[in-house]
Amino acid sequence: MPSKKLEQAINEQIQRELYSSYLYLSMAVYCEEINLDGFAHWMLSQSEEERGHSMRLFNYLHSRGGRVVLQAIPQPPSKFKSPKKMFEEVLKSEQSVTKEIHKLYVLAKKESDHATEVELQWFIQEQVEEEKTAQDILAKLAMVGDQPAALLMMDRSLGSRGQQP
Ligand code: MG
Repeated sequence: MPSKKLEQAINEQIQRELYSSYLYLSMAVYCEEINLDGFAHWMLSQSEEERGHSMRLFNYLHSRGGRVVLQAIPQPPSKFKSPKKMFEEVLKSEQSVTKEIHKLYVLAKKESDHATEVELQWFIQEQVEEEKTAQDILAKLAMVGDQPAALLMMDRSLGSRGQQP
């Protein structure tokens, strides 16, 4: 069973993953409002994925005999200035999640909780992907600039997330 301190820290990470899910859901609303359905689809998929991350930790804590205590989820922002500004927030948010996961990993190591260390390795890898994806999309948005045709092409491409190529 994880120590009380580690249990508390995992519960906080469950909350952060749920907040991420909530944030992406709010971004999906914004994308629909500005008629970028492909972006909205991408955000909804991402929101589901973040919920999956929280459930992974939820199930892990249970399986180790720890106690899951759900915490309050803050209200996410509901307005974004542009798709590019929105993805700047995505990157910032993922970088902050990465930092917290690294802190959690250091704590698990300090407590010699090897099972938690192994579990967190998956999250460490996942964050590399999350940051790379956000950076790639941001780089494309920088190229798009204020050309609506290019933005619509990108919308179509993000709208195909999760489909067979
Ligand atoms: Mg996550």
